[in-house]
Amino acid sequence: MADVLVVEDEDAIREVVGYQLERYGHQVRYASDGVDALRQIQESLPNLVILDLMLPRFAGLDLLRVLREHSQVPVIIISARDTEADRLAGFDLGADDYLTKPFSVRELMARVQVALRHSPPRVEEEPEAPEETLTLAGGSLLLDLGRHEVRKDGRLLDLSPRAFELLTYLARHANQVRSRDQILEAVWGYAYGGDTRTIDVHVHAVRRKIEDEPRTPRHLVTVRQYGYKFVDE
Ligand code: CA
Repeated sequence: MADVLVVEDEDAIREVVGYQLERYGHQVRYASDGVDALRQIQESLPNLVILDLMLPRFAGLDLLRVLREHSQVPVIIISARDTEADRLAGFDLGADDYLTKPFSVRELMARVQVALRHSPPRVEEEPEAPEETLTLAGGSLLLDLGRHEVRKDGRLLDLSPRAFELLTYLARHANQVRSRDQILEAVWGYAYGGDTRTIDVHVHAVRRKIEDEPRTPRHLVTVRQYGYKFVDE
């Protein structure tokens, strides 16, 4: 059972989502504007936040930015805005998932289960992670898997948790092509039913950080009609 905060100003959506979460045995809190959401988060950190973007008083993305300054709690965005720029903005700020309205409640619940599985363990439960570092691109890229950090030429890059997992997965299979389905399963843990835009958006985000020329990537390359490959050279 998880403590879930639903931040949504539309009563009907808030009720439907909350009802399903409660049916799954979760404890649900509600906020109908950004200021109230922030107050509740500061009072007690939930295990998961479901976040609408267009909110009165304090926009969803601003809320996410503030939240990420001190917490890695999983966040699923639900939004009517569906451009790549919107998704990218959400993922860049550290959202774990992005669902476009209208969405099926069943799909939301599937993503809730995944997000909760990926939620970071509480500090006292954290197992001793083996210190592991991947050195790539002739030493210019360093992935610290224990700390979830990536550095380019010594400089710490700001990658969302999911973008970091994507990069790690491809780097572990360096110079091998991975299909979108393989990537979805490994990084997201389930199939999205054909929506591969989520991967593409994360790939763009990773390229913007690790590539010298993101438009003509040298390392994270597209293999047409198949998937992606990390070229380690
Ligand atoms: Ca709204």
